[in-house]
Amino acid sequence: MARYIGPVCRLCRREDMKLFLKGDRCYTDKCGYERRAYPPGQHGQARRRKPSDYREQLREKQKVKRIYGIAERQFRGYYYKASRMRGVTGENLIQLLERRLDNVIYRLGFASDHAEARQLVRHGHFKVNGRRVNIPSYLVRMNDQLEVTEASKKVVRINDSLGAVERRGVPQWLELDKDAFRGRVKALPAREDVTLPIREQLIVELYSK
Ligand code: SF4
Repeated sequence: MARYIGPVCRLCRREDMKLFLKGDRCYTDKCGYERRAYPPGQHGQARRRKPSDYREQLREKQKVKRIYGIAERQFRGYYYKASRMRGVTGENLIQLLERRLDNVIYRLGFASDHAEARQLVRHGHFKVNGRRVNIPSYLVRMNDQLEVTEASKKVVRINDSLGAVERRGVPQWLELDKDAFRGRVKALPAREDVTLPIREQLIVELYSK
């Protein structure tokens, strides 16, 4: 699957908010957005006209894709899946994205950002309910038990990330046993568990045109 490999701070500047794509650096004064809080490119500092509805919808969709590190085709697939589920499509969409294994690994603090979580999952460092899972898009369910494999408990990146987990905090719907390198899905994520400013109704409007 295509993966963005360009400069990531540029993405935060484009979306005009911190997306936390670069691990610990995001919490320091080296943060690219803190230093240059205007869009990238030659005309980044030019005065802007009022954005059109389409532009707002597009930017919202791009922002969420970038937060979760998902490509367009897969993201659209999540939208269609969410629209077929019971309830509010936008909220279903956010819940599906939150339930991805790579996101859960990041939220539990086993990785410092989504890209790292994705790579660690691909490399088979985690088990779900006792079975090794290396698919980042795997959707966790309520009461799933996640753990770092025995051999991976010494991996420096996992230990470093766990060392900094207090700063980020673990969301209410997850439970972390840091010393045992284990986590549990206490409940499926509710909309209010996602604290980043996401206006998912704009994404629904964009795709339902
Ligand atoms: Fe975004 Fe992190 Fe870069 Fe800051 S350091 S601009 S939050 S990716």
